[in-house]
Amino acid sequence: MPAQLIDGVKLSQQLRADIARRAAELTAQGRQPGLAVIIVGDDPASHVYVRNKVKACGDAGFHSVLEKYEADFAEQALLDRIAALNADPGIHGILVQMPLPRHIDPSKVIEAIATTKDVDGYSVLSAGELVANLPGFRPCTPYGCMKLIETTGIDLRGKHAVVIGRSNTVGKPMALLLLQQNATVTICHSATPDLGYHTRQADVVVAAVGRRNTLTGDMVKPGAVVIDVGINRDDDGKLCGDVDFASVSEVAAHITPVPGGVGPMTITMLLMNTLESAERGLPKNEAQPGQAQGMDPKPGLV
Ligand code: NAP
Repeated sequence: MPAQLIDGVKLSQQLRADIARRAAELTAQGRQPGLAVIIVGDDPASHVYVRNKVKACGDAGFHSVLEKYEADFAEQALLDRIAALNADPGIHGILVQMPLPRHIDPSKVIEAIATTKDVDGYSVLSAGELVANLPGFRPCTPYGCMKLIETTGIDLRGKHAVVIGRSNTVGKPMALLLLQQNATVTICHSATPDLGYHTRQADVVVAAVGRRNTLTGDMVKPGAVVIDVGINRDDDGKLCGDVDFASVSEVAAHITPVPGGVGPMTITMLLMNTLESAERGLPKNEAQPGQAQGMDPKPGLV
């Protein structure tokens, strides 16, 4: 039987409706969630991403600030802008779109963002919070993947999860989030000699590589949950993931499509992190149930 689709568009719509409702409540209390997005340079893809993020903010009833700077904007000037936004009480999340021009050190920029506003979850401190299983901002893409896995109803405890890819923004945090849910986690990367050996044992596979057909049907255990993070183009220029959808969907029980799977969830989780950052400032009895002071509804869980 072909795999069931995990519909990221539908889940995003559901989550965004809830986010908008909570944002309206905050706004009524004079605390409208606010996101600042900074972009430096003229990379066309980055400008599209940024526009989508700002539009999503508007749709959810958030306040947003978009700051665009020329490619020769000085590093110090950018750090000064971040310092000003860190101090701005109307801004609950700050996002600097990557990549930055070569003369700007991305780590310096990420670390300049106040941890309380690091809604991308990219800073070393946010990464440490994830490692230590403390409340904090989870990077949006893996956070979204966890929400997608949740919809399948699979109990991750004791299950074998294989993450393909070990980037700081996707693969590694993904593995840690699965580990927090008591999965047994294997991380594969470009030096893994026999990828299929690992993936064939997996109850859950998350592919975050950036190379199409990395995972094919013969590499998947029957009944597995497959999450495709990759964004690639096929020979006809059509968007595709890392997973050979046709062959894998014959074997897996649940699979995300590309497009329409992980993609929409990334911005949704950015909204969620920004909302929760705004909710953090509320006195405990005014925060949403399970959200007081906080991040994840259940500490350590997403
Ligand atoms: P990345 O930084 O380039 O990392 C890719 C990872 O894949 C690396 O760890 C690399 O291993 C590993 N890899 C490369 N070739 C491999 C192979 N043959 N077998 C096993 N592992 C291999 O990319 P990323 O930022 O994590 O993103 C991964 C993909 O997800 C990209 O297509 C990106 O566009 C997409 N993405 C999508 C979203 C979304 O919202 N849908 C968000 C973020 C990223 P080494 O570490 O050994 O080099």
